[in-house]
Amino acid sequence: NWIKELEELDKKHFIHPTSPIKQQQQAGPSFIFTKGEGVYLEDLKGNRVIDGMSSLWNVNIGHGREEMGEVAKEQMSKLAYSSCFATFSNEPAIRLAAKLAEVAPGNLSATFFTSGGSEANDTAYKLARHYWILKGKPNKQKIITRTKSYHGVALGGTSATGLQPFREFTNSIAPDFDYVDHFSSEALRRKIEEEGPEKIAAFVAEPVQGAGGVHIAPEEYFKEVRVICDQYDILFITDEVITGFGRTGTYFGIEHYGVVPDMMCFAKGVTSGYAQLGGVMMSDQMYEEFKELSTGTLLHGYTYSGHAMACSVALKNLEIIEKEQLITRAKEMGGEMLAGFKELQRKHSIIGEVRALGLMGAIEIVKDQNSKERYQTALAPIIVTEAAKRGLVVRSVVFDSQDTLVIAPPLIINKKEIEEMMTILSNTFAEVELKMIG
Ligand code: PLP
Repeated sequence: NWIKELEELDKKHFIHPTSPIKQQQQAGPSFIFTKGEGVYLEDLKGNRVIDGMSSLWNVNIGHGREEMGEVAKEQMSKLAYSSCFATFSNEPAIRLAAKLAEVAPGNLSATFFTSGGSEANDTAYKLARHYWILKGKPNKQKIITRTKSYHGVALGGTSATGLQPFREFTNSIAPDFDYVDHFSSEALRRKIEEEGPEKIAAFVAEPVQGAGGVHIAPEEYFKEVRVICDQYDILFITDEVITGFGRTGTYFGIEHYGVVPDMMCFAKGVTSGYAQLGGVMMSDQMYEEFKELSTGTLLHGYTYSGHAMACSVALKNLEIIEKEQLITRAKEMGGEMLAGFKELQRKHSIIGEVRALGLMGAIEIVKDQNSKERYQTALAPIIVTEAAKRGLVVRSVVFDSQDTLVIAPPLIINKKEIEEMMTILSNTFAEVELKMIG
């Protein structure tokens, strides 16, 4: 039969991204998705699951939106792509850059386009370093990031990523990256003083850490970071790849903290996954300085920087986010989700801390709610597998001895669908608890 055939072809030919390669090789694909509608995904066998992760935190407007297909088709038929190198341009890229300037925090006003978040991060680091060269401070090249951070898998992003297993994957990372404790602005100050501010180009942070386990910084943290970066003449770069475009209940995650970065990386939610797009925004002062100080060519650009079809899809996506007020909705439904987590916590003794900002949430699994002690073998991966069988896709995070479930459904989710997620989670927790504690 052809489902079996596809499974065999998958095992033989398809190297999956971020996959348990041996296990995947033995078991084959768990779902071959064929269809998406709203918060639901359907596979070849007719299984229907709630996409509790918005796939990879990115399908903000939900699956199967015909208007996205229509706008892509229209742009593809007219002009799918043309180069944006040097003086060439196209209308969707121009209009999107202008739209982003309108919605981005503060004075972030100019955009360099990429095809995704890893390219966005590498671009930001290179532009930051180049900026200091232009400013006559060529030794300012170090990039400081945080523990538990994730910034992509290109060489720069991997090197910037605080989660150690990603760096150890090759045992050889790029020079000039260093890491500080994720919640401590004082640790940043100490690091700058140890290294010397004259060697540091930028500090990079996700407004809410995603892949590292949904860690929400203390209220004053980013205000203090902004002050420290200004004091030592260091660029502050936010990585809004997950937190951008409504995810946390504001347009961009950093808005919760009332500060504006010098540069901002984005991707994912900019198109809700309907096309591959990312980018870096720069403040108007910085862009002005770039223009004034540059004498040669900006020797950084991707073939697909400013891809016309991807940019037209992004424009439509932003129109939908605004027209359907999905940012307010993320805030409201995020409140419902957190209330649901708290109820689960009351019912299930293996749930420790729960947290969420908008529709970006986490549930910690513990052996003991008081001591917060964890199980020796993490339970979150088991819960993920069991929840999937019951119709809900969520993710586990076990880095740094964590045992955490992360949940980030599409922003279009409604109350009934949140309740459905909670029922599945509750049944799953009950089953796993029975197995663990009897
Ligand atoms: N930065 C952050 C904060 C991310 O969460 C991700 C992806 O999950 C990336 C960068 C990398 O983005 P991409 O996978 O589009 O290259």
